[in-house]
Amino acid sequence: MTKKRAITVAKGDGIGPEIMDATLKILDQAGARIDPEFIDIGEQVYLQGYTSGITDEAWESLRRTKVFLKAPITTPQGGGFKSLNVTIRTTLGLYANVRPNISYEQFIQTKHPNMDLVIIRENEEDLYTGIEHQQTNEVTQSLKLITRPGSEKIIRHAFEYARKNNRKKVTCFSKDNIMKITDGLFHKVFDEVAEEYPDIETEHWIIDIGIAKIADTPEHFDVIVMPNLYGDIASDVASQISGSVGMAGSANIGDQCAMFEAIHGSAPDIAGQGIANPSGLIQGALMMLVHIGQPEVAEKIHNAWLKTLEDGIYTGDVAKGGASVNTQEFAEAVIERL
Ligand code: NAD
Repeated sequence: MTKKRAITVAKGDGIGPEIMDATLKILDQAGARIDPEFIDIGEQVYLQGYTSGITDEAWESLRRTKVFLKAPITTPQGGGFKSLNVTIRTTLGLYANVRPNISYEQFIQTKHPNMDLVIIRENEEDLYTGIEHQQTNEVTQSLKLITRPGSEKIIRHAFEYARKNNRKKVTCFSKDNIMKITDGLFHKVFDEVAEEYPDIETEHWIIDIGIAKIADTPEHFDVIVMPNLYGDIASDVASQISGSVGMAGSANIGDQCAMFEAIHGSAPDIAGQGIANPSGLIQGALMMLVHIGQPEVAEKIHNAWLKTLEDGIYTGDVAKGGASVNTQEFAEAVIERL
C-alpha cells in the first residue's frame, strides 16, 4: 500500500468544523492517501492568549507537512487582532492565490451559463502588508506595496498556469490610470512577461470596469491576474455570480508550502445549524489532492460531486428556496456516488 501523505488540517471557526468533517469523510471514503494532523487556529487560540491566533506547535506542523487544508476562520473587522489568514500566507510565502470560478449551469440556476474563469491573485503585497498609521484623529494612512520581483512571480505563475491548463488568454487588471507608479509597475511587468508567452492571448482592463465586465459577461475571461486587494474583491463577485459563494475553492501556492481552502468565510450567521455548503472546501481539497500527486482520487470525488448536483441534491444556498439537504446529507450523497 502507498504511504499516506501527512497534511496539516485546521477545522477553523463558525461553519468550519461542519464543512471540514464533511470534506474529510468524503476524502476518506474516496481512498485519499492522507494522514491529517489537526491544529487549532483562530478564535479559540486567541482566547488562550496567543495574539497571533496560532501556536508554535501549529507552525511546526505546517513547516513539516508543507500542505495545509484549512477551514475558514473569523477575523474581526475594523480593529482587534491581525488577520491570521494574512499572517499564514506571508509567513509561508504563499504568493499565488488561485481561484477557479465555474458555473454549473446544467445543475445550478445562473445568469451566466458559460462562465469558466480563474482568478490569480497576488497574495503577499499591495495594501495587505498591513502597514497602516494613525496620523492624527482625522487622518489615517496605509501603504500600498508593489514590487517588481513580486509582480513578476505572480504574473509568470498566471502564464504558466494558463499553459499547463490549456487556457488561451491571460488578462491583467490594474488601476494604473490613477496609481501610475504602483499599478503602473504591475501592468508594465505584465506586458514584459507576456512577450515570453506568444502562444497566449493577452489584454489589460482597468479594475473597476473589469469587475463590471465579470459581473455582466464573465465568459469573456479565461485567466485573470491582479494585485492582492482587487483579487479579493473580484473573486467574491465571480464566485457569487457563478451560483453561490459556497461553491468555490482556492489554492494558495508558495515555493515550499501550499494551503487549500474554500473562498468564503466562517459564515457566523448559519454556524452550528449544519446547513452550510461544503462544496467550496471540497473544491479546495481536490486542488490539494492534485498538488500532492493523487489526481485520480480528485477526479473520482469531482465526478461524484457533479453527479450529486446532477441528481438535484443541493444545500440551501444553492437550492434557493427549493428542496435542500443539510451538510452531512450532502456529503453522504457524494459518498454514495463515488
Ligand atoms: P462569509 O463568506 O462568511 O459569508 C457571506 C454570506 O455567505 C453569509 O450569508 C453566509 O451565510 C454565506 N455563506 C458563506 N459560506 C457559505 C457556505 N459554505 N454555505 C452556505 N452559505 C455560505 O463572509 P463574511 O460574513 O463577510 O465573513 C465572516 C467571517 O469570515 C469574518 O470574520 C471574515 O473575516 C472571515 N473570513 C475568513 C476567510 C478565510 O478564513 N479564508 C475568508 C473570508 C472571510
